[in-house]
Amino acid sequence: MTTITLVRGDITRQSVDAVVNAANSSLLGGGGVDGAIHRRGGPAILADCRRLRASHHGKGLPTGQAVATTAGELDARWVIHTVGPVYQASGGDPSLLASCYRESLKIADELGARTVAFPAVSTGAYGWPMADAARIAVEAVRAADTAVEEVRFVLFDDSAYQAFAELIG
Ligand code: ADP
Repeated sequence: MTTITLVRGDITRQSVDAVVNAANSSLLGGGGVDGAIHRRGGPAILADCRRLRASHHGKGLPTGQAVATTAGELDARWVIHTVGPVYQASGGDPSLLASCYRESLKIADELGARTVAFPAVSTGAYGWPMADAARIAVEAVRAADTAVEEVRFVLFDDSAYQAFAELIG
């Protein structure tokens, strides 16, 4: 049974087995959550990402997929990088956003992670409306067949926290 918890705060400050990064497909860093994770986690994470680019992920990580690296100096064992879909004027593909959560939990299971912290993937630079992204995230986690015991959504501001809180009883 997976318990969903909500925290308002900074995902790089969480003590969990795995921290999920809202990465971009280059895996080589960016702004938002990605920048914060690399800043606080230190260079070991980027070194691992570069190794992935030199081996299994030569073309980068496709949208909706996930891959793990060390967590460097974060208080976690792994960072699971996932690439959310971009929300455009015509909308975004919700199945790809759901896939980020499902694939991240699949990687967490392969690693043996029991506590996993997620940001609200795609709701920053990628522009997905928070309420809709929150619904997709919570539904995807509830539908997942996973041994992860705690999924912790870490929301950066009050409105993000409220959007998730409305869905979690
Ligand atoms: P994306 O490119 O997938 O949209 P972003 O990192 O730009 O990813 O933003 C995703 C969400 O994470 C946004 O709601 C943003 O406010 C939030 N966010 C940014 N920094 C942090 C942080 N340190 N911890 C938790 N959430 C964060």
